[in-house]
Amino acid sequence: MEKIKMTTPLVEMDGDEMTRIIWKMIKDELLTPFIDLETDYYDLGLKHRDETNDQVTIDAAKANMKFGVSVKCATITPNAARLKEYDLKELYKSPNGTIRAMLDGTVFRAPILVKGINPVVSKWNKPITIARHAYGDVYKNTEMRIDRPGKAEIVFTAEDGTVTRQTIFDFKGPGVVQGMHNLDASIESFARSCFTYALSVKQDLWFATKDTISKVYDGEFKAIFERIYEEEFREKFEKAGIIYFYTLIDDVAARLMKSEGGFVLALKNYDGDVQSDMLSSAFGSLAMMTSVLVSPKGYYEYEAAHGTVQRHYYKHLQGELTSTNSVATIFAWTGALRKRGELDGIDELCEFADKLERATIETIESGQMTGDLTLITEIKNPKKLSTLDFILAVRRTLEKML
Ligand code: NAP
Ligand code: MG
Repeated sequence: MEKIKMTTPLVEMDGDEMTRIIWKMIKDELLTPFIDLETDYYDLGLKHRDETNDQVTIDAAKANMKFGVSVKCATITPNAARLKEYDLKELYKSPNGTIRAMLDGTVFRAPILVKGINPVVSKWNKPITIARHAYGDVYKNTEMRIDRPGKAEIVFTAEDGTVTRQTIFDFKGPGVVQGMHNLDASIESFARSCFTYALSVKQDLWFATKDTISKVYDGEFKAIFERIYEEEFREKFEKAGIIYFYTLIDDVAARLMKSEGGFVLALKNYDGDVQSDMLSSAFGSLAMMTSVLVSPKGYYEYEAAHGTVQRHYYKHLQGELTSTNSVATIFAWTGALRKRGELDGIDELCEFADKLERATIETIESGQMTGDLTLITEIKNPKKLSTLDFILAVRRTLEKML
């Protein structure tokens, strides 16, 4: 069989620990035998980030902006323990944070559904993707303990000196008070990322806030989404046969439980924090959760939602056989390859991505899986495979399909 050719390189960001091991296995066993894989390679492994004073992360993000699509391996976000372990020059920022800040994107997380690994809500037969706004609100707040009677106010001093003030509360006794903010520009780019992503997966977009109570603050989120939808996306949505639907956050919580899935749910920062943890555990496993960063300019960065699986890596270093789940990392590659294929008009690449995903799912559905899944599956007598043996099993399923 002739290998599939690519015309634009995929930006490849290598990473750390167990996921770095998995990364190479996926490339060797599932990709390079079938594709003339062209990548623009950046080593975001912690050692190399340290050697380059983290310049490699910036270079990788720039390459992402140049070529459009990247695939990223999980990376260590250094803390005090890592500083010692890797003898680092400094505590570098999270690569994901650096890349997100440069690409100005929104992260979309979607579960990978497999028969036999059933969501807690039995009606969910299609994935629900969460898009969480990652700027401002309570995560960038100013708060104060009030320890005596007095008046709390919001005061805005304009650059020209004009002062606007409003009373928050006349305290008769102790309490608490909090101030927070957001920016039109950030909400606009969040909205554009959500509309762009929903179009790219051809799924409805839901957006929810609490604008009945927070009439100005949440009202602004609602208004910005509506304006951008009308001005830039309504026609495209109608053509794609998908809808944009706005409702209240509590209404969404209730609707979620009765839905079948198959839509993108955009949420404000706090709502997204709560709902994404709820959804990822309700769908089964962090190792079965994909993640893609979509910038309003149409740059895409694909990765797994989990980390570097440190505990398994230490076992691996001691020569023990591991059973680490590679599914989300495989899907990071297929997501990126499919997007590259779409942008470059290479149908074979898109079809290959579809087949590799199906091969991965069918392998699990046939009862062959890693240890994390044998613990939660309803498939009878599942076979627990090692990290490499699972990838080899996927290869056998894939080769039968090709
Ligand atoms: P983690 O790597 O996600 O792993 C936490 C635990 O979840 C594992 O110990 C394992 O449980 C289970 N798990 C996660 N992924 C799995 C997989 N693919 N297969 C099987 N089990 C899996 O999180 P962490 O241990 O808290 O963080 C490790 C490092 O990852 C940290 O240095 C952190 O900075 C980094 N991190 C990176 C990213 C990213 O790059 N996007 C995201 C999160 C964390 P058991 O041990 O019970 O088997
Ligand atoms: Mg959380």
